[in-house]
Amino acid sequence: MFKWLLLLAGAYLFYRWLKGKKQIQAGRGEAHNPRPNKAPKAIEPEGMVQCQHCKVHLPKSEAKIFEERFYCSKEHLNAIDQQGWVGSAKWRPSPNQDVRPENISPDLVVIHHISLPPSEFRSTNSSQYIIDFFQNQLDSTAHPYFEEIAGQKVSSHFLITRTGELIQFVSTQNKAWHAGVSSFMGREKCNDFSIGIELEGDGETPFEEAQYQALNKLIPILEACYANLQFAGHSDIAPDRKTDPGMYFDWKKFQKETNVSLKNLPYGLTSR
Ligand SMILES: [Zn+2]
Ligand SMILES: [Zn+2]
Repeated sequence: MFKWLLLLAGAYLFYRWLKGKKQIQAGRGEAHNPRPNKAPKAIEPEGMVQCQHCKVHLPKSEAKIFEERFYCSKEHLNAIDQQGWVGSAKWRPSPNQDVRPENISPDLVVIHHISLPPSEFRSTNSSQYIIDFFQNQLDSTAHPYFEEIAGQKVSSHFLITRTGELIQFVSTQNKAWHAGVSSFMGREKCNDFSIGIELEGDGETPFEEAQYQALNKLIPILEACYANLQFAGHSDIAPDRKTDPGMYFDWKKFQKETNVSLKNLPYGLTSR
């Protein structure tokens, strides 16, 4: 009889132990997988998002989505927001920037070309090298040329890849480091008052139609934000040092398609 009682007590203790263990596990499970309908629901009703541009709240199903950012309309997606970022560009912030002089907003756009390694822009990797370079993350062991340039601290506001993809590195409100020693119509230090656009290319190959199309989309976005922008090539403002965007940038086509006023192209439309 005593043995039976001992056995029963033993079984009961085992049962309690097992139950306790299960509760601990359940508790842990909850800690690792917090139910999503708890805290966030109080802040933002489920399925609602905020427009990056105007901050209006709207159902996620109605929002335009780009790189996990939300916009209430096509107009706000294709515009410069209050922080100086274009909604429809990929954002890859560069540390190579600083503030513009006080009360200066950009009135010049400088067109460049770049390719890394030089002229090797047909592989998908090449655009990523430019992004890495502007973000100070270029792997100097990936190509002999990279060893020479890996320490340079440069950037541009925008890059347009061979496929016409638009990438932004610096807010248009800030100064990107693209022009270097330069002079535009007697005004020096062009970085202070310009926006830099790099076209992926090498000066020996025509630019792609997709790149002109991306430019044609970007220029009105910039003009809507900054009145009376003028346009120049890097070689126009630093003729002793630079040749980009080069002979293959078609200024006539650019002017015709963007409808930029001729007076805002002070170096003319000839290839150079
Ligand atoms: Zn909006
Ligand atoms: Zn340049």
